[in-house]
Amino acid sequence: MPTCQNCNYELVLLPRGKYKCSICSKLYPPKKVESKSFRTWNQKQRELDIHNDKLDHKNKVSEKREIRKFIRQLFNGLPKTRKQIYEEYKEVQYQKKKLWIQNNKDKYLEMRRKMREKYRQRIRGYANLYYYRKKQKALALHYLRNKQYNGSKEEIDFSVPASSLSQLLF
Ligand SMILES: [Zn+2]
Repeated sequence: MPTCQNCNYELVLLPRGKYKCSICSKLYPPKKVESKSFRTWNQKQRELDIHNDKLDHKNKVSEKREIRKFIRQLFNGLPKTRKQIYEEYKEVQYQKKKLWIQNNKDKYLEMRRKMREKYRQRIRGYANLYYYRKKQKALALHYLRNKQYNGSKEEIDFSVPASSLSQLLF
């Protein structure tokens, strides 16, 4: 069906043989409507309409999506931040642990006792290490302090003290 060049509405064929647009009342002589240029224009117009319809549809779909997203946020609040997710996860883990302890009290106390023992052993280990390091340091300092008092002859360093030799005399 040919359409009006003015408002794009479908033309109506009047009994007198003329075409009329029922929106803007513009009249078209039949010769013009049936001419090739008019038909081409109509064809172009139709293609444009289809294109616009598709565009409209696309916009409507994305609009619907936006609305759905908006409604979701309205009910669920804004999307969570990483920190919020982490805090919630921590809370859930804490509650789980609490519940487990409530249901496994003996096991938990035994575990805690073992942990403390392990901890105490480690502390003891560190204390020993500290003690021996300190001792080693003292020895090293002692050695450095007395290094200057070397015997004038090297043999003196390896000689046995006279007091222990004197015992052999009796
Ligand atoms: Zn019209």
